[in-house]
Amino acid sequence: MSAPNLWPLRVRDNRAELASPSANHYGRAMTKPTHAKVLILGSGPAGSTAALYAARANLDPLVVEGTQPGGQLTITTDVENYPGFPPGIQGPELMELFRKQAERFGTRYLSGDVTDVDLSKRPFTLTLADGSLTCDALVIATGAQAKLLGIESEAKLMGYGVSACATCDGFFFKDKDVLVVGGGDTAMEEAGFLTKFASTVTVVHRRDELRASKIMRDRARANPKIRWIMNATIDEIHGEPQGHGVTGATLKDTRTGKLTKLTTDGVFMAIGHTPNTQLFAGKLAMDEYGYLVTEKSSMKTSVPGVFACGDVQDRVYRQAITAAGTGCMAAIDAERFLEAH
Ligand code: NDP
Repeated sequence: MSAPNLWPLRVRDNRAELASPSANHYGRAMTKPTHAKVLILGSGPAGSTAALYAARANLDPLVVEGTQPGGQLTITTDVENYPGFPPGIQGPELMELFRKQAERFGTRYLSGDVTDVDLSKRPFTLTLADGSLTCDALVIATGAQAKLLGIESEAKLMGYGVSACATCDGFFFKDKDVLVVGGGDTAMEEAGFLTKFASTVTVVHRRDELRASKIMRDRARANPKIRWIMNATIDEIHGEPQGHGVTGATLKDTRTGKLTKLTTDGVFMAIGHTPNTQLFAGKLAMDEYGYLVTEKSSMKTSVPGVFACGDVQDRVYRQAITAAGTGCMAAIDAERFLEAH
C-alpha cells in the first residue's frame, strides 16, 4: 500500500470534498431534482458504472451518493488490480475518474443518504433528510462494509498496513509478516491467499475454536506459513501512516486480559462483511446474510423495476471490477425495463 503511484494522470485529491456532506453536485442543472427516470443509490464502482451506462442511454440518471461517497475504494490507497491502469492508481482517484466519466454524459450526483423507500408502487418514492425523490427505475448499489474492530489505531492506519481485503492489498506484503484477524471462512481464505506473498501469516482469533468450515480449517492448518494465536484480540495497532505504516500490535488474551506486544508489517481484518441493506428489510428479497437476491443472469431484484449491483448483492467476489460489471448490467436491465413499461 505504500508503493508510489507512477501513473502520469493528474487527478486532484478530492478525498476531503468527497467526504464533505456539503458537496452538492447536481450536474448541469443546479436546481434540486424531485424525479428521475433512473435513480441510483450509491456512488462506488457499481453505482457510477450504472450511471455511466444509464446516462449514455439518455436516461438522465441521478445518483444519491450515500454516506461514503465513492464507496469502499475511497478508504484504500493503491489499486493495482483494476484493468487499464498498469502502474496502479489511488482508490479515491479512481473513483473520481468514474464519476467524471459518468458526469460527462450528464449524470447528476446528489449528496445525502436515503432514509426510507416505498417500493410498493411506481414511481418509487425515496425519502432523504431534506425531502423526497421519485423514480421510474431504481438501481441499488449501496455496497457492503467490512466489519472492523472499531479501535482508533485501526482507523488511523487503514490503507497504511491495515486492510480489510487481502485480494486488494496482499501484493504489498511480499516477504513481510502479517496478522489476519478472525476465525471464519474469510479469515482462512485471506490467510491462505496472503501466504503467496508474506513470509508469515499469523491468524489471531478470539476463541480457541475456529468458526470456519472443516475444509477451510484443515487447508489453513496444513499450510506451513500460517501460524496461530488463539484466545486473543487486537488491543492496539502500532505505527504511523506517514512513516513505515504498521509496525506492530498489542494483543490481549481473552481469558486472562494479559497484553502482549509483537512486531508485524500488516493487519488484515477478516471478521465478516455487512451489506448495506437495512433500508430494504421486508421490501426486497435477501439471502440469509442480508445480501439482496438478484435473478440469475440479471440484476433484477424481487420487485420489478428495482435492480441491484455491486457488493450489496455479491457475497463472493467483492471486487471493484466485478462491481463495475454488474453496474453495467443493472443499467442495461433498467433501460430494458423502462422501454417495456
Ligand atoms: P463469519 O461471521 O463466519 O466469521 C467471522 C469471524 O470473525 C468469527 O470467527 C468471529 O469470531 C470473528 N469476529 C467477529 N467479530 C469480531 C471481533 N469484533 N473481534 C474479533 N473477532 C471477531 O464471517 P466470514 O466473513 O468469515 O464468513 C461469512 C460467510 O461467508 C460464512 O457463511 C462463510 O462460510 C462464507 N464464506 C465462504 C467462503 C468460501 O466458501 N470460500 C469464503 C469466505 C466466506 P467468533 O467465531 O468468536 O464469533
